[in-house]
Amino acid sequence: MSSGQQVRGSCFCGEVRFTVTMPSLFCVHCHCSMCRRTHGAAFVTWFSVPSDQLALETPDALVRRASSDHGARSACGRCGTPLFFESTHRPDQVDVVLSNMHGPIDREPQMHVFFDDRAAWTRVADGLPRLGGATGLEPIEPADGSTR
Ligand SMILES: [Zn+2]
Ligand SMILES: [Zn+2]
Repeated sequence: MSSGQQVRGSCFCGEVRFTVTMPSLFCVHCHCSMCRRTHGAAFVTWFSVPSDQLALETPDALVRRASSDHGARSACGRCGTPLFFESTHRPDQVDVVLSNMHGPIDREPQMHVFFDDRAAWTRVADGLPRLGGATGLEPIEPADGSTR
């Protein structure tokens, strides 16, 4: 896939529609408790792009809420689908939920982050690197596909 590729996405009900222009910066599975609870999911797969590569067709349909001292999460105001995450730690980037895209992006998920915060019942055997610790991004286990 070439850079400049555009992939469309939306929330569940279609009220929020957007286009993301590649290339992406990274793609990770996040196991942190905030992602798990705000999405009602075992973990959330995000990819990140420079903010100017996200074009919202329907900006008024978004509801944006602070979720921590540095982060804000956006969801559809009608159906509640979680859509985007922004952090003051990475001011010119936006994280997009991969599940809301209508087609493939330019990369596959690369690693698990906040893996030591994962739900106790989550089992992962994909061999991707597992990162965790205070930042969620420190190596904590070899990427040998083992579970514990
Ligand atoms: Zn919606
Ligand atoms: Zn998270």
